[in-house]
Amino acid sequence: MALPVAGAVAAKAAKLAAWTLAQMGIEKPEDLIKTALLVFFLPVTIIAIFFVLPVVTVGSVPMARPSQVQFYIDAANQLNEEYDLAIDWEEALALDTVLLEQDFSGTSQNRALSLAEDFVEVIKITDEDTTYYEYEQRSLDEVMDMRELDQDQMEWVYHLLSMGLSQFQDVGTDMQDGWEPNPTGPFIWPVPDSYKITSKFGPRVCPVEGIDGMHNGLDIGAPRGTAIVAADAGIAIEAGWKGTAGRAVIIRHAGGYETRYYHMNSIAVTKGQEVSQGDYIGSVGSTGRSTGNHLHFEIRRFTRAIDPLQFFLGGDENV
Ligand SMILES: [Zn+2]
Repeated sequence: MALPVAGAVAAKAAKLAAWTLAQMGIEKPEDLIKTALLVFFLPVTIIAIFFVLPVVTVGSVPMARPSQVQFYIDAANQLNEEYDLAIDWEEALALDTVLLEQDFSGTSQNRALSLAEDFVEVIKITDEDTTYYEYEQRSLDEVMDMRELDQDQMEWVYHLLSMGLSQFQDVGTDMQDGWEPNPTGPFIWPVPDSYKITSKFGPRVCPVEGIDGMHNGLDIGAPRGTAIVAADAGIAIEAGWKGTAGRAVIIRHAGGYETRYYHMNSIAVTKGQEVSQGDYIGSVGSTGRSTGNHLHFEIRRFTRAIDPLQFFLGGDENV
């Protein structure tokens, strides 16, 4: 029964299309082709010029790494708290993207802070015999004037802002081929059989919830059952089910450090147990809120999550 119905619908649609074309004054096929070109290819071209081209251009040059993006977020947060302002880290990042010509090897925590400070206007007020200071926020235009950006640079800043800076937050898996962890701190790599990073530390769009958020750890992809070892000696302060983290182990170490292991398939330690560096503590799984087998590995210091990768780059920042 479905076929005749579909046929009738198609016939009606064809009639409607013919009528529509007639209304538009199109009777010759050449006109139809011209109209089709205009209707379909013009928007495609416009879209290509305005959206695809900039992405390709931007994508072809080095980007800020998530840990570098964090410099600007931290700097804006720090000043906003200190002076009760609302400096936008994206503006600071966009500005520095242009100043650095997208080569973020020249950035640092201090550079980001001094750039963000440009957004703070210090006003000295002398009132009879007392002098005090007030802090106001400079606009992006004022800061760009101060930094003597030319017209092209200003347009590039606005262009970056208009595209959103989500691409700078991309915590992709861009480790070089043959990458191996090269420990420089107190920790060893927690999954000795896999160096495959499926998601880095930093701001990201959560693949499960599709919302912006902070990825507090490093995701290391490995088959279910792959061994996980303690990154350093310590005491397992948690070992068991932990909501969205699934089966999880948290180990407290010296120096205010703590390492966390989430989404485990099995756990081989108990709460309160002392572990040595390299001890088997369980296996990789996909428990809790997880989209596949991986270890979500966190390093925290005084409860604040820090980028675990910084301990495994062997001084080489160019990865
Ligand atoms: Zn994760």
